[in-house]
Amino acid sequence: MDIASLKAALPDIKLEDNPRIVQRKSRDFYWYSPVLKRQLEHITGDILAVPKSEAEVVQILGACFDNDVPVTVRGAGTGNYGQAMPLAGGLVLDVSAMTAVKHIGQGTVTAEPGAILAEIDKQTRPGGQELRLSPSTYTTASIGGFIAGGSGGVGSIHWGGLRDPGNIISLRLATMDGSEPTVITLEGADIAKANHAYGTTGVITEVTMPLAPAYDWSDILIAFDTLEGAVRFGEHLAGMDGLLLKNLCVLDEYCTPHLKRHQPYLPKGAAMVVVVAAPFAASDVVFLAEAAGGTVTLRTDTADAEAVAALPPAFELGWNHTTLRAMKTDPSITYLQVLYPPPGISEKVLQMAKTFGPEVPTHLEFVRFDGAVGCFGLPLVQFTTEERLDEVIAIHEAAGAPIFNPHRYTLEEGGMKQTDAVQLAFKHQADPKGLLNPGKMIAWDDPDFDYGKPYLFPTLTTA
Ligand SMILES: Cc1cc2nc3c(=O)[nH]c(=O)nc-3n(C[C@H](O)[C@H](O)[C@H](O)COP(=O)(O)OP(=O)(O)OC[C@H]3O[C@@H](n4cnc5c(N)ncnc54)[C@H](O)[C@@H]3O)c2cc1C
Repeated sequence: MDIASLKAALPDIKLEDNPRIVQRKSRDFYWYSPVLKRQLEHITGDILAVPKSEAEVVQILGACFDNDVPVTVRGAGTGNYGQAMPLAGGLVLDVSAMTAVKHIGQGTVTAEPGAILAEIDKQTRPGGQELRLSPSTYTTASIGGFIAGGSGGVGSIHWGGLRDPGNIISLRLATMDGSEPTVITLEGADIAKANHAYGTTGVITEVTMPLAPAYDWSDILIAFDTLEGAVRFGEHLAGMDGLLLKNLCVLDEYCTPHLKRHQPYLPKGAAMVVVVAAPFAASDVVFLAEAAGGTVTLRTDTADAEAVAALPPAFELGWNHTTLRAMKTDPSITYLQVLYPPPGISEKVLQMAKTFGPEVPTHLEFVRFDGAVGCFGLPLVQFTTEERLDEVIAIHEAAGAPIFNPHRYTLEEGGMKQTDAVQLAFKHQADPKGLLNPGKMIAWDDPDFDYGKPYLFPTLTTA
């Protein structure tokens, strides 16, 4: 890699090689995992580039190709598995200056990759529309980073995940196939070539996403005396087809003490169901909750406006914000990602809760999964040793609850993406020198690698 010659080739591009700034931009939320913290703490790039346009991205990729410089893309750097960390050094391509919302249509929005999700919605909401899906990092994450590194989140109870056809309409992808890189448009099954690929196959330079009707969503907190009551109600509510919900989360009594600002609404010892519902669905959620033995402790569409204004939105109690809030009060906490497939979601969840107790507090997110109610667990884990963490994983898997391991930085071992022959062939075409985010795709080095576990994102052959 020849950084001096790279700099000389890019006189008009905003570059930065101050080591402290480059290292700051070489990090994401990898420290969520004590394992990744140990493995990746020393990682840094050599130089940072901040393109303003697709044309500048192409110019940078061409110069990096010529000088054998690895390229790792960075959106907002909120990924949890070290996805945006340049394992082989080289150039960190920071797309945060590419934020334009280019077109809003009926049901669609087209934006540059660095656009922050909440900022996109600020522009679509006056027309009564909003993004279908967002991570709970809605106010900080970029749309390109969500597609390349995320999987779903707020909205997944209604719309499923980014893996589901229709939740991404098209992508423009700048590849690294030569001195003058090609930009291609991906649609349909081809979207899987860049979706959740950690930027290993190209740089997303434009996205077109579907929109949904926008509402002033109501946050509803419901307390149950037992975890069983909360879990069974959560599963029941998730299956109510007539209710428009945006998020549905269950938190046990060991999770709730970490949610500081909501304490007045979280009775000690209670298990909570946290619902985000369309305002016209809120009364139905309340009557169903009370019929199931729950007590509504907060409903923001009818509560005192001043009290509500002091609270974070309820979606920031869920997904990986639960983990973030817990780590703030107890830094020894980490987490896991569990799939509880139907049927028998509640039974499996309760079995795991009984097995581990306070060592692995229960946190569930209900979603639509392949047309049915599905459930992801993001349990907190009271971390002791890496060996015990592996044991906790093995016990879940033996009980029929697969783990997407957030303590691994590769596409395959995280259990999310299987890089099959089609994906690998595309990588060879798009990045023949293997310079895009090296080290993240095991199949590049070992085409026969088989993790032997279920994957969240279907193989390209399947797609
Ligand atoms: C508190 C917290 C809560 C979270 N909640 C969720 C959640 O609910 N759902 C969820 O899915 N994730 C969640 N995450 C993970 C992360 O926030 C999201 O996936 C987010 O969308 C990532 O966006 P980003 O802009 O920060 O991407 P980055 O972290 O910058 O990048 C993510 C990956 O995408 C690649 N990439 C970035 N931009 C591009 C591009 N333009 N072209 C090609 N590759 C690119 C990077 O190289 C990296 O591999 C959470 C994380 C935290 C810390």
